[in-house]
Parts: sequence; structure tokens; C-alpha cells
Amino acid sequence: MAKITLKNIAHSYDGGNNYALKTLSHEWHDGGAYALLGPSGCGKTTLLNIISGLLQPSEGQLLFDDADVSSLPTEQRNIAQVFQFPVLYDTMTVADNLAFPLRNRRGRDKLSAAEIDRRVEQAIAMLGLEALAKRKARGLSADDKQKISLGRGLVRTDVNAILFDEPLTVIDPHLKWQLRTQLKQIHRQFGHTMIYVTHDQTEALTFADKVVVMLAGEVVQMGTPQELFDTPQHTFVGKFIGSPGMNVLPCEVAGKEAVVEGHRIVLAREYPVLSGVMELGVRPEFVRLADPGQGMPVQIVAIEDVGRHRIVRAKLNKHRLDIIVPEHQAIPSEPCVEFDCNRINIYQNSQLVGWNL
Ligand code: ATP
Repeated sequence: MAKITLKNIAHSYDGGNNYALKTLSHEWHDGGAYALLGPSGCGKTTLLNIISGLLQPSEGQLLFDDADVSSLPTEQRNIAQVFQFPVLYDTMTVADNLAFPLRNRRGRDKLSAAEIDRRVEQAIAMLGLEALAKRKARGLSADDKQKISLGRGLVRTDVNAILFDEPLTVIDPHLKWQLRTQLKQIHRQFGHTMIYVTHDQTEALTFADKVVVMLAGEVVQMGTPQELFDTPQHTFVGKFIGSPGMNVLPCEVAGKEAVVEGHRIVLAREYPVLSGVMELGVRPEFVRLADPGQGMPVQIVAIEDVGRHRIVRAKLNKHRLDIIVPEHQAIPSEPCVEFDCNRINIYQNSQLVGWNL
């Protein structure tokens, strides 16, 4: 496994007019589980393809440990890849498909037949494919084929990294949950460096130790799921992560007070004089429904019961405000809302205003 360093990596598909990936410098730890998360077109696949060698970056260097691999072709980077659609040999058995990437190795990397059998058996057991081991891949369900494809990524234990490009998109939802959990266990057990591309926040948050959130070719935040929830560095991260995402309201800030739609809100700390577009971010989990006269009056638009709690969709004047309300709590007919002052984030031009100013 390897540490992966991106040094001023940038990529343009059109000779420098537009950058699909803007300049990035990051260090990803040996053995880390990373998810690249972001909306369609934000540059996730471009970045993954640069790491795998399918794409040469227009600028910058890529290092595996301390070796510069920027100009090496994919075959020489010693990585395993799992794609959205399984790439299998239909006429081979499941076991032979799994053995294929191991049998292909030459020279000092060649493995004995016994070692190949051992690793194939291990992958079959990890993914619960025992009943299918001797079946031909042809005719298997799409879900089983994708399991085998994951297995082919996992049989190689000595790779620098395993790269997954939306591997669970075409999988049945229940199996998706199962495979995600299995991948996490496999990561804990074997400590591969794993990079997982997805646009699904649940997949990213359950799989990764560190989630790399991308927007328009830039990394807007790299953090643990908890960090992304507690302190989104950018309003986009706050809105994108969470179900529903963070509420973002225009505000003015002066000292220890914010003013939202003419209502004064006491903050947990003092802010310096700030200019630019100021916004207050508060997650629906930290908005409390209060009785009339307490806090800011809101208008309820809809109530969604999602089992564990209800999501109240409300409006504060013209601004949308989502509130998570516990099952047992009554909803007042003329509701007001209060925010937990310890869970309010203040944003200046979409960026979180730091706590250490
Ligand atoms: P998706 O989730 O839809 O796969 P993504 O986040 O992986 O999206 P990329 O596929 O990396 O995003 O695309 C980033 C940008 O680069 C997009 O604007 C896309 O249109 C553009 N792009 C991607 N591949 C090419 C290409 N081969 N030629 C030109 N532009 C491209």
C-alpha cells in the first residue's frame, strides 16, 4: 500500500480554456479509506483517472510514497480498479475470474498456484460467493457479477491502492448496504489504501474515514463524516451532506449577535467585523420548535414522517427552513423556532468563519 501525494495537480480537457480539475495539493495516507464525493461533473472521475494513470494531468505531479508516478502507464502503477459496470470473462468460472489478475503476474511478482488458490478462496469467503465458485460468469445476475468484480479488486493484497468508481450504482439496495459494510470490514482487516468515487453521501459516509467533497473541480473539504456534519467548511458541504442538509439563511453579524430576517440571535462566541455575503448555517437537528412568542415565527409547509422523527418543512419569511422534530413532540399551530447557539456556523462568502480568529 502507498501514501498518495497530489502536488499541484490540475487538468483541462481543452488545452487550458476550462479546468475540469483546479489546482489540488493533498496527501492521502497509506492505508486510508477515502471517498470522492460530489455532484455529477465535479471532477471525481477525472481525479480517479489521474491516480490510476488512465489520464495524464495537464499540470502537477502524482507520487506513490516518494516515487513520482506521473508519467507511468496504468499497468506499472500496481493498482486494482473496480468499475461501475463489471468487466468479467463470461466463459470463465467465478474462481478463474478472481484468479485472473493473479495468474497474469510475471517475473518477481509471479505467485505460486497454491498462493493464488489461497487468495481466491479468501476473496470467495469474504464476499459470500462459495455457492457460485465453479459456475461460469455468463448468466449470473448483475449483482453477483459486481461482487466478483469487487473480488477481483480485492485479491491483490500488494497493490499501492484499490480504486472504486461508483461500484455499487447498479446494485440492488439491500445488497448495496451489505457490500458497503463488507468493504469497510475488509478495509479494517487488510488496511488497503482505498479510494472510492460516489455521488451518494450515504455510501461515502459509511465507507470512508475521510470524505473528499468536490465541487466544480475543487476540493471544498476533506474531513471525517463527523467534521462534515459539525463544521462544514463551505455552505455547499453543509447543504450536500445531511438528510435534509443544513439550513443556510442570510444574516448580519455584529459581535456576539446575528440578525436573521430582523430577529436577533445570540451566538456562542464573538465575531470580528465581517463584510461580504454573510450567512448563518444551522442543521435541522439543531432547530427547535417553540411556542408562540419564543424565537422566530415560521410557517409550516409540509410534514414528512420518516419513522424515527419527522421532518418539518417550514418557511421563515421567504427562506426555506427544515426542522427535525422528535416523534412524540406536538407541533404548535403557530410555531416559532429557536436555534441551538452552540451549533450555529457563520459563513462569509460561502466559507466558514473560523473559530480561531
Ligand atoms: P459523474 O459523476 O457524472 O461521472 P464526475 O464528478 O466524475 O461526474 P468528471 O467525469 O470528472 O466528473 O467530469 C468533470 C468535467 O470534465 C465535466 O464538466 C465533464 O463534462 C468534463 N469531461 C469529463 N471527461 C471529459 C472528456 N473526455 N473530454 C472533455 N470533457 C470531459
